[in-house]
Amino acid sequence: DEILNTVKEEHEISEVSFNTWLKPLSVFAVENNKLYILVPDEQIGLSYITKKFLLPIRVSVAEITGTDYEIEFILPEQTKKIKPYKAKNIGMTESGGTGSALNPNYTFDTFVVGNNNKLAYAASLAVAESPGEVYNPLFLYGGVGLGKTHLMHSIAHFIQTNNPSMKVLYVSSEIFTNELIDSIRNGNNSSMNKFRDKYRNIDVLLIDDIQFIIGKESTQEEFFHTFNELHMAKKAIIISSDKPPKDMETLEERIRSRFEWGLITDIGSPDYETRMAILRRKKDMDDFELDDEILDYIATNIKSNIRELEGALNKLLAYSNLEHKQITMEVAIEELQNIISPDKPKEITPQLIIDVVCEHFGITLDQIKSKSRSNDIAKPRQIAMYLSKNMTDASLDSIGSLLGGRDHSTIIHGINKITDEYESNENIHNSIDTIKKKINPN
Ligand code: ADP
Ligand code: MG
Repeated sequence: DEILNTVKEEHEISEVSFNTWLKPLSVFAVENNKLYILVPDEQIGLSYITKKFLLPIRVSVAEITGTDYEIEFILPEQTKKIKPYKAKNIGMTESGGTGSALNPNYTFDTFVVGNNNKLAYAASLAVAESPGEVYNPLFLYGGVGLGKTHLMHSIAHFIQTNNPSMKVLYVSSEIFTNELIDSIRNGNNSSMNKFRDKYRNIDVLLIDDIQFIIGKESTQEEFFHTFNELHMAKKAIIISSDKPPKDMETLEERIRSRFEWGLITDIGSPDYETRMAILRRKKDMDDFELDDEILDYIATNIKSNIRELEGALNKLLAYSNLEHKQITMEVAIEELQNIISPDKPKEITPQLIIDVVCEHFGITLDQIKSKSRSNDIAKPRQIAMYLSKNMTDASLDSIGSLLGGRDHSTIIHGINKITDEYESNENIHNSIDTIKKKINPN
């Protein structure tokens, strides 16, 4: 905050400009002489920020810290390569290790309650007020961009504020998985103990996007023990997922049944009123003039993802800052045509299919393209081959090159394998049907 405020004052940056470009930035990590600054969303314009603010930020950082750090802006997808900065507010610090960063804007105060989320909201607040005493575990599920992470961060912030002595650990399940794999790979007891200490020596554990743990046997096993220990000690456990436990195909039964001990609640798509309320609130927070007619246009056309809803508003805000122009309906339609394309379904391409497959199985693009033959990765890769063949006109060569330069015969082998398994293996059959729906919801 101090860095940003200094930039603002010394460069006389307007409120709107500050809120759009600078406020969302946060320090992600400090390594040697380098300070990594997280730009939370590509839509807010990485290249523009770099051009305009890199130097001012570097100067204020030097001024405040006394060190001339090199500044690098990074996007969320690049963060995996870098160790997060250890500080309060960014996960837990004592007793070793860090969690994932908490977004200071994700609090109960900024969460708009509507019919789609009021149960999830009420349950989250109850858990935040009495951690471990009610709804343990709390299981929140819902589609992408509907507010799961926002609610989880709200719980963590609330407890940190009202119960500062409690140790709260918020992690994405990707981090949980990676840390576990690292400690297994290190192979000695002390690294495993460190991992266990970190995850069992806490009062509140929040694991976001648990679907990434599923399908990885060793992580399920470790999670199971962590869960049992925390639960027995009446420590609060809060979990989010993109689907309810009963639809998680490879979830072990013993874990599924534990999820049902507490409360399972869903976050649905927001109705029109809620969408308008979210847009209005954001507009006011950003101190931004915009006709209701335009808000209505956005709320009518973007229905199922609040991140996109906000993205549309951010785009108009950026436009009005850059062009210094009032946003008219015409401008809005023009500027938002990439986001809002009425009745025009997304084109299905092998790349889209690969992205969806990776997301579904919780693996990265690098992994699917890699040489790894482990089943966790090889199977999704073959499924991507199969779906690319069946859902697009792409040539086998182009599919192979998107998947890390694999040759013809490898692709044919993969397609044949999955074609057989689709008939003979119920799990694979269901997974593929689910993925197809994600690729083409109509
Ligand atoms: P998820 O984790 O379910 O994919 P997020 O929690 O990341 O979704 O939400 C996506 C964006 O939408 C975030 O910027 C979040 O602040 C915003 N958002 C979601 N639900 C609400 C809500 N009810 N009120 C205000 N903002 C919301
Ligand atoms: Mg999320």
